[in-house]
Amino acid sequence: MRSRYTAFAKGLWPYLAETQVAPLEPGPTLAWVGLTVHEAKGDEVEFTARYVEGGREVSLTERSRFEQHDGRWRYVTGRSRVTAKKLGRNEPCPCASGKKLKACHGAD
Ligand SMILES: [Zn+2]
Repeated sequence: MRSRYTAFAKGLWPYLAETQVAPLEPGPTLAWVGLTVHEAKGDEVEFTARYVEGGREVSLTERSRFEQHDGRWRYVTGRSRVTAKKLGRNEPCPCASGKKLKACHGAD
């Protein structure tokens, strides 16, 4: 699951397609700034992944289900909810770079 987060952050769509059951439509590569795994039990993982877009920090919290095929875990489905909060351009960037948002992921 962490490797899929990294692949989303880098836009590695072929890897993402290989590690899920359903066909994958490549989308935009978002500015992901953090992943927190809340619980990993059996074939389910609950996590929050955050990205910055349009001066907002968007948090996607999902409970995902995985299946094992030939010794590899693949994403099956998930139930997610999304929340967003507005960020100030002079606030510290949520990616923890130590820079202000306007000089980091908010530079657009
Ligand atoms: Zn940043």
